[in-house]
Amino acid sequence: MNEDLNSRVEALKAQWSKAPAKMLIGGEWRESQSGETFTTENPADGTILSEVAAAGQADIDAAVAAARKAFETGPWPQMKPDQRAKLLLNLADLMEKHGDELALIETLDVGRPIQFSRMIDVGGSVGQLRYNAGWATKITGETHEVSAPGEWLSYVLREPIGVCAQIVPWNFPLVMAVGKLAPALAAGCTIVLKPAEQTPLSTLRLGQLIQEAGIPEGVVNIVTGLGRTAGAALASHMDVDKVAFTGSTATGRAIIDASKTNFKRVQLELGGKSPTFIFADADLAKAIPAAAMGIFFNAGQVCAAGSRLFVAEEVADQVLEGIAGMAKALKVGHTLDPDTVIGPLVSESQLDRVTGYIQSGQAEGADVLVGGQRKDGEGWYVEPTVLVETEASMKVRKEEIFGPVLCAARFKAEEDVERLAAYGNETEFGLAASIYTSDITKAHKLARRLKAGSVRINGSPGVDPALPLGGYKASGWGRENGKAGIEAYTELKSVTVGLG
Ligand code: ADP
Repeated sequence: MNEDLNSRVEALKAQWSKAPAKMLIGGEWRESQSGETFTTENPADGTILSEVAAAGQADIDAAVAAARKAFETGPWPQMKPDQRAKLLLNLADLMEKHGDELALIETLDVGRPIQFSRMIDVGGSVGQLRYNAGWATKITGETHEVSAPGEWLSYVLREPIGVCAQIVPWNFPLVMAVGKLAPALAAGCTIVLKPAEQTPLSTLRLGQLIQEAGIPEGVVNIVTGLGRTAGAALASHMDVDKVAFTGSTATGRAIIDASKTNFKRVQLELGGKSPTFIFADADLAKAIPAAAMGIFFNAGQVCAAGSRLFVAEEVADQVLEGIAGMAKALKVGHTLDPDTVIGPLVSESQLDRVTGYIQSGQAEGADVLVGGQRKDGEGWYVEPTVLVETEASMKVRKEEIFGPVLCAARFKAEEDVERLAAYGNETEFGLAASIYTSDITKAHKLARRLKAGSVRINGSPGVDPALPLGGYKASGWGRENGKAGIEAYTELKSVTVGLG
């Protein structure tokens, strides 16, 4: 580690060790009312980074009340859209200015290799803010001619939904928080944001920048705490108008149940088990590294990870050898090493879960082509792993592992697009899919038949704020990003005026 990086790491650790991190409620930084805290650790070595306030019901009530006040009587919803846009752009500039610090916090708390966190966590967040700032001035209603007798003026208003709870997971804390905040803010909503208990630190730093950017108090409240207490209290709160959640499918179900209290709107981005198809006519020089990084990037802790591979029999040996070669060659190491490509899993319990799945795959008859073990030493590392000879009935083929584990199977030349689509659609999920082929007709036919929110043909541009993101089936409700993402933070109101 170079000296500059080392001293920046030490400065952050010294700051975190001074006192438990506080929450942002109504423009003030507060401890939890009970005084309770929890700890967050560095997954690369298991050391504790900081104590953090643990919100209870009283803190959630206070945060929701602050957001309600800001929505009903504060300046935010009444603020001219170009002013709201300007404040979002201010925040983007500030995030860019403090990008190195934000990236370092993310690397320490999440375990993302430092070479990725500046580009993905900071770059992605800045992109979300600038894209959604543009929408603030472009949210429109409609006018209609009604068919009733008489003369009427009829129009449809698009209004901000109100107080939104946003519950974020631990794999991409900053960019997912900003990806939820930015459209909600552009639409004029106010927010109570809860980062995951494993990774709260970048979101708290974001809170300071939100204040510095000039976003009025109470518009964004940040509460830290455990899912089963703070998260559940938010999801069931009677004064929250919408809950937007990204995380596991099991927790998504709990959020749906909790939302029944007051019929709050629910937006869910949940798990995935996304297929990658590599045909014999694919450009293998492109397809092999893409399939490998599609599952190994971020140690597989990506909801849209390409975790199932269907490869044409004719090229299967070459493709699998290529992916296995990459699995061995990619540097698994300390997150602050600039050459590290694969970091640790976020926690010891994730490590146990992922290694448990690998064992279950073997017990059900899959073979380990490469990897398969926990990496010796400190931190929660597991080797990039390829399981071959997997079958649709196996747990590893059906369930989301959320680790660097690829489940591969071969298909025959005579299997047509309908059959391949059935493989793609065989799980309860429907988040994403990738296709590698030089036959454009086949690619588009398969894309139409796959039940997946995003289909990538011959490459992926990554998550773009303009493109709707979300899933079919158990992968969620609704779409984030793009026009749909903005509209998801609005309610429609039909107004009719009798003109005589
Ligand atoms: P994981 O199981 O991998 O930790 P979760 O989907 O449970 O993923 O967590 C994603 C987010 O949901 C986190 O912010 C977590 O605190 C929160 N959460 C967990 N359980 C609940 C719940 N019952 N209600 C609301 N939020 C929850």
